[in-house]
Amino acid sequence: MDPLLIAGHEIKPGEEKRIEIPMVPLYTDTTMSIPVHVKRGKRPGPTLFLSAAIHGDELNGIEIINRIINSKAIAKLKGTLIAVPMVNVYGVLNQSRYLPDRRDLNRSFPGSKRGSLAARMAYAFLNEIVAKADYGIDFHTGAIHRSNLPQIRANLDDAETLALAEAFGIPVLLNSNLRDGSLRQSAADVGTKVLLYEAGEALRFDELAIRAGVKGSIKVMRHLGMLNKSRSRSSKKIEPIIARNSGWIRANESGLVNHHKHLGDYVEKGDALATISNPYGLKLDEVKSNAAGIIIGKQNIPLVQEGEAMYHLAYFKEPDDVMENIEYMNEEFLPKD
Ligand SMILES: [Zn+2]
Repeated sequence: MDPLLIAGHEIKPGEEKRIEIPMVPLYTDTTMSIPVHVKRGKRPGPTLFLSAAIHGDELNGIEIINRIINSKAIAKLKGTLIAVPMVNVYGVLNQSRYLPDRRDLNRSFPGSKRGSLAARMAYAFLNEIVAKADYGIDFHTGAIHRSNLPQIRANLDDAETLALAEAFGIPVLLNSNLRDGSLRQSAADVGTKVLLYEAGEALRFDELAIRAGVKGSIKVMRHLGMLNKSRSRSSKKIEPIIARNSGWIRANESGLVNHHKHLGDYVEKGDALATISNPYGLKLDEVKSNAAGIIIGKQNIPLVQEGEAMYHLAYFKEPDDVMENIEYMNEEFLPKD
């Protein structure tokens, strides 16, 4: 197997190591670094990276990665797992999506050695981790006060990426065009295939999102031959389905919100999704669905300004099949207590 070097540290086959990638220090003269956990199997196989908190307030992925690296399931790993639980360490420290220079790390790739804080961080992550991997899973959540139904976003026009997305085993897949400056764009340029997992809400742990993320990642590792196939097949098989498209329903008034529909609900065109009222409780308007679809993202805070995005709807050819699979997902991953 090729030698693997990360930030000047060599990791040999059969080794498990924790490495710090040094970053720019804080103005308090405190050193900063990106923590990396590497596990190399004795036997050869692909290299997969797992990354979380590229947006520093998106915390579910940190827990997903922690559960995976401490799981017995990966004891007999083939190939290499590079786990980066907190990419944007400055954002995590500030409980903020952004870096202290207000930039979005996921719009700062490929970055540069001598650029802004965001550019340097993007450069280090891309060159020390992403470029050394064959595949990657990047964990995200909805923004602050917004929740996402578990979903995979990836370049599904690429057959190998589509197969990875299907292996993850959650109901909703979105084909997403690469956006300039994103990690996925730069990963594609260096030949690394990446899935983006979106689930739950910023600054919160969501148990369903975490469990589905852990299981999905293990399934991807099995698909890649990094882990042996599991023999037990207790739960119903979740069939992933690609959305035709998706779109946002926005508030048509400013006011207080009472939601009538929730994450994972199917809605028909014209269905009332929420009522918006003024501060005295007078109903101003109903927010209505403009098409039949499934709610895959939703604002949680019951206050809106006119024009704000309230519901993210995904449109499917056969929504009944998707609803059935969302039910299987809830049965498998929702905590029972
Ligand atoms: Zn994000």
